[in-house]
Amino acid sequence: MKRILGTLLLAAWLAGCGPAETPAPTATPSGSALLAAYDFDTERERLLRELEAFGIQEEGILDLIRRVPRHEFVPADYLDRAYDNRPLPIGYGQTISQPLIVALMTRELGVEPGERVLEIGTGSGYQAAVLAEFGVEVYSIEIIGPLADQAAVRLERLGYPVQLRHADGYFGWPEAAPFDAIIVTAAPDHVPQPLVQQLKVGGIMVLPIGPPGGYQELWKVTRVSEDQVETVSLGGVRFVPFTRETDATPPP
Ligand code: SAH
Repeated sequence: MKRILGTLLLAAWLAGCGPAETPAPTATPSGSALLAAYDFDTERERLLRELEAFGIQEEGILDLIRRVPRHEFVPADYLDRAYDNRPLPIGYGQTISQPLIVALMTRELGVEPGERVLEIGTGSGYQAAVLAEFGVEVYSIEIIGPLADQAAVRLERLGYPVQLRHADGYFGWPEAAPFDAIIVTAAPDHVPQPLVQQLKVGGIMVLPIGPPGGYQELWKVTRVSEDQVETVSLGGVRFVPFTRETDATPPP
C-alpha cells in the first residue's frame, strides 16, 4: 500500500511548498469587485475532483479543502490560480503549499478534533487553517517575521483560532508540548530531535527530509516509545528549505 502511495505521489510530482517558478507577489486581495470576477466555488469543486483522482478519497479531508477559502491565502496577483493544484508564491521566497500535499499531510497526521498539533512553517497560514477547521488545537511557528505577522492578521480575520509564534521552529514549542502530531512544511536535512522529544508516545510527525533546492522524501515518523521511532516513506516531494537564522529574512 505504501509503495503504491509513493509511486502515486511521484507521478503527481508533488510540490508541497515547492519553489515557485513565478515572480513574487506585489499585493494582497482587496475589493469585492476583484473577488466577484472569479467563480471560486466552481474552481474549488474542480480542485476537489483532481484531489480525488490523485487518491484523496476521504470525504472528511475533501470537506476541509472545500471549507477553507484558499483564495484568502494567496496574493491578489494569483487569485485566478487560487484553486490550481500547485504551490503559489507568497513573497520572501516562500510559497503556499500545493493543495494535494496539504490534503495528504493532513490525512497522514491521523489526528482527531480536540487534539494538539504543532506546525513548523506557518507561511500563508493555509495549512494551519485547514487543521483548525478540523477542530484540532493548532500551534504554528514561522521564521520570517513579516509572514508570521501577515498570517496572524489573516487567521484572526477569518476566525481561525491558531496560536502563532515568530521563531526558529527547530526547537519546537516546549511550553505547549507534548503534541499529538507535528507537521513540518519546509525541508530540513535531518529530523530535528527537539521535535521528536515534543511528540507524545504514539504521536505522528510528517515532514520532508532532503537537500535544499532539490527533491526530498516525505516521511511519516511515529514515536512508538520514549526512545524509539518508526518511519515510513510517503514518496518524493519538493519543499522550500528549512532555514535556521531568524535575522536572515529575504526581501519580499
Ligand atoms: N504551511 C505553509 C507553507 C509555507 S512554505 C502554508 O500553508 O502556506 C514553508 C514555510 O516554512 C515558509 O514560510 C518558511 O519561511 C518557513 N520556515 C522555514 N524554515 C523554518 C524554521 N526553521 N522555523 C519556522 N519556519 C520555517
